[in-house]
Amino acid sequence: RPPQGGGRPPSIAPPGVRHIIAVASGKGGVGKSTTAANLALALAGRGLRVGVFDADIYGPSMPRMLGLAGRRPEVEGDRIQPLENHGLRIMSIGFMVNEEDPVVWRGPMVMGALEQLLRDVDWGELDVMVVDMPPGTGDTQLTMSQRVSLAGAVIVSTPQDIALLDARKGLAMFRHVNVPVMGIVENMSYYVCPNCGHREEVFAHGGARRAAEELGCPFLGDVPLDIRIRETSDAGTPIVAAEPDSPHAAAYRSIAERI
Ligand code: ADP
Repeated sequence: RPPQGGGRPPSIAPPGVRHIIAVASGKGGVGKSTTAANLALALAGRGLRVGVFDADIYGPSMPRMLGLAGRRPEVEGDRIQPLENHGLRIMSIGFMVNEEDPVVWRGPMVMGALEQLLRDVDWGELDVMVVDMPPGTGDTQLTMSQRVSLAGAVIVSTPQDIALLDARKGLAMFRHVNVPVMGIVENMSYYVCPNCGHREEVFAHGGARRAAEELGCPFLGDVPLDIRIRETSDAGTPIVAAEPDSPHAAAYRSIAERI
């Protein structure tokens, strides 16, 4: 419903959730969901109560990434129970639709679904909710920025994406709606050949650090392109949980420490 009298629309933030962090990207395929899942696991590893809200309505990937594909949440009366895995409480529109079915909703239906998942899900008491946002700067971003008090946004970018301005637009949007940008993560930053150890800067590593400096926001760290990061996510246990002693898990933990 549009705000009455020009005031701020009413908040739909779940009452027991202390901090809500949006993980966003300028475009799809840069590793936003992978980063969101691993940051959530890293935060949970510090003893925090963590929820994951998959707001990527058109391409929900949390059910598969967090090992809950094909599962359905329990509904008690008008309350929806979040699913749990790897110590996280998780809700995704992906639990409500079949994985093969494309979500062909118009904007208002999407906003209705988002609102319902925030309002009617029993999130309980959480220290942090990590929100996997859809890519870009559309309706969901505006709804989440205006109707949920976001503690901040983490922008995920490949070195190339930030050079090509997509990620900068996302950053500008959050600033415009007064959501603090917690910083930029450079994903697929470089590639180390597992056979010879040669390091290849596939997308010209370092773009995000430079952009962060230029834009006056923190640089949170970089994550290399590595097959284990993809394989562990595809298998439903992201690398922070699957291989906690790996350097990649350490990279995600260090990023989580800075947010
Ligand atoms: P987005 O949410 O931005 O669309 P995803 O997190 O779904 O992107 O990642 C897109 C694909 O790239 C997935 O298959 C994922 O496993 C893979 N991927 C993401 N980050 C990395 C990485 N650092 N190394 C290897 N594969 C990655």
